[in-house]
Amino acid sequence: KILLEVKDLTAIIIKTGEQILNGVNLVIHEGEVHAIMGKNGSGKSTFSKVLAGHPDYEVTGGTVVFKGENLLDMEPEERSLAGLFMSFQSPVEIPGVSNINFLNMAYNARRKKLGLPELGPLEFYDYISRRLKIVNMDTNFLNRNVNEGFSGGEKKRNEILQLAVLGADLAILDEIDSGLDVDALQDVGEAVNELLTPQKSVLMVTHYQRLLDIIKPKYVHIMDHGKIVKTGDISIAAQLEKEGYKGIA
Ligand code: ADP
Ligand code: MG
Ligand code: MG
Repeated sequence: KILLEVKDLTAIIIKTGEQILNGVNLVIHEGEVHAIMGKNGSGKSTFSKVLAGHPDYEVTGGTVVFKGENLLDMEPEERSLAGLFMSFQSPVEIPGVSNINFLNMAYNARRKKLGLPELGPLEFYDYISRRLKIVNMDTNFLNRNVNEGFSGGEKKRNEILQLAVLGADLAILDEIDSGLDVDALQDVGEAVNELLTPQKSVLMVTHYQRLLDIIKPKYVHIMDHGKIVKTGDISIAAQLEKEGYKGIA
């Protein structure tokens, strides 16, 4: 069953009018893991952000259907409630809001949409404590302000904690491996694997094969100048590691 279908997607940066996405085509079925690789500046983060509904960009052409609905018609919050999760390459800090309150609010919004009763602080604490174990995070992160003063690696773990708490049908993970040491990378990769079920899908953006060795993608796409120019299996990543982008895009 098709989860996400992107057809001929074009998008510009609103501020400058520059076109960054030049006709992206991508189909993700339920339960599939996909990876996008590509040179710096090829449009990977822009593509991820456009899917999440980031306000810096305007879609100028093409279509995106998510779970049978027009994704481009939805507000960012609606996309998230519909089951799309996006972990940003540079996660934002939210001063004055503790991690646990932030997650509690977001989680309750989701429960409300599903017609389930909201969880009070104690029930939520119980729930999140179990999710924390998945990402191997210390409980003291719950009472710190969202991402404030977190190291690069801690921010990435926190993004996966958000995914673990909120759940998603499609998780878009933009360079979730950047700035992680080997152990943290293993933890984060295994946490994502633990969250994967036969229905859940992942689209990860990465520069490195090492993440793909943990979260094994079925398809690897190469993005160049704002479109996907090649699709293959994980062997493309190995080829990249050896030869760089010369031979590929
Ligand atoms: P990648 O993630 O593949 O490295 P990006 O999607 O981040 O590439 O960026 C693609 C191009 O678009 C780059 O040249 C980048 O500088 C530019 N760009 C993306 N977003 C913005 C923005 N909000 N303002 C200005 N330039 C942007
Ligand atoms: Mg980049
Ligand atoms: Mg990027």
